[in-house]
Amino acid sequence: MTFFGAAGEVTGSCTLVETEHARVLIDFGLFQGAMSQEQRNKVPPALDFRRLNAVVCTHAHIDHCGRLGMLPRLGFEGPVFCTEPTATLLPMVLRSSANLQKMRVEEFREGTGPDAVVLDPPPDPSLKVDDRHEDPPVLYARGDAERVSRNLVGVPYRVWREIASGIRMRLHDASHIIGSASVELEIAHGASRIRVVFSGDIGPSGETYLAARGHAPEADVVVMESTTGSRPIGTHAPDTDASLREVIEHCRHGRRTAIMPTFSVGRAQVLVHHLAQLSREGLLDEIPVYLDSPMAIRAAELCVQHPSLLSATARAMIGRGHSPFEFDSLHCLWSRKHSLKIAGREGAGIVLAGSGFCDAGPVLHHLENALCHDRGFVVFTGYVLP
Ligand SMILES: [Zn+2]
Repeated sequence: MTFFGAAGEVTGSCTLVETEHARVLIDFGLFQGAMSQEQRNKVPPALDFRRLNAVVCTHAHIDHCGRLGMLPRLGFEGPVFCTEPTATLLPMVLRSSANLQKMRVEEFREGTGPDAVVLDPPPDPSLKVDDRHEDPPVLYARGDAERVSRNLVGVPYRVWREIASGIRMRLHDASHIIGSASVELEIAHGASRIRVVFSGDIGPSGETYLAARGHAPEADVVVMESTTGSRPIGTHAPDTDASLREVIEHCRHGRRTAIMPTFSVGRAQVLVHHLAQLSREGLLDEIPVYLDSPMAIRAAELCVQHPSLLSATARAMIGRGHSPFEFDSLHCLWSRKHSLKIAGREGAGIVLAGSGFCDAGPVLHHLENALCHDRGFVVFTGYVLP
């Protein structure tokens, strides 16, 4: 096995599994973070992509799938295996990533891209500031994203599938986002067989809309990323329900709009699902909630289409004919025109919009309206790049 990313660091997941007869790549994700990190994406891993037999993608988060669009230009046109929900999400994620790369270069050249200056506390002058003289990288175009999408092979969970000579694969639900998987490989080794499990991103447990993760399969070798090192996650995590109640009160009393920068797949569904529960208690009467992300809307629909992957409560709601991601005051925004109109509004409300890192997307004009015109406040709901 050779690790080309996400080892000794986070993001850029990409591991080559090689035997005498076969070569399989597990994930091909983007390096994210500072500009110097992003520039690393331009340099493909030192391997001959034309000799790969297959690629497997654990889930549709950009740090695991974001460089799949580079595959055609690197000479790989073979199958990309993933779960069925992931095969539905990936074309959207890759197309959106290609569009974003193009837009960022245009904005960079025009000098209209988002930028930030730390005001308080003053930045330490001894710290190196990112070199921003180089254009942001363009790794692939929309056409490349579409070419890769045609090679996606959706595989049901828990079903063995031969993916290369002497290597078969089974996917297990990782309860991380809809369609996320741990990958179990069974590799022929002489007369015996070796089981290797790639955990992919798992959990966190306690998410309310996904089914609990099952037992991990037995394995000879387990490969897992450890974003938080040895620190247990969740011990200091704020109580989402209590935090959202506080935000709603703040909106109502101050007649202000809460802007929540949100990742479209995963975090957005967690928040909408919580807000739906609070809505049923009557807490969101007269407080409109705007979900400004077609991809988040689609991801929620996908959840409803795969009830077996959801929690018992969510499944029961679907059984009664209701979506656990819908409520009366929720408005889904499908177009930029609609999004811009909402960005000019005043009064109590909640806006969930991407990107979660606030470096692109509709969240930028919502932030401008809320902060420059003092109409709202920002609620960070996940990790934000410093
Ligand atoms: Zn993830």
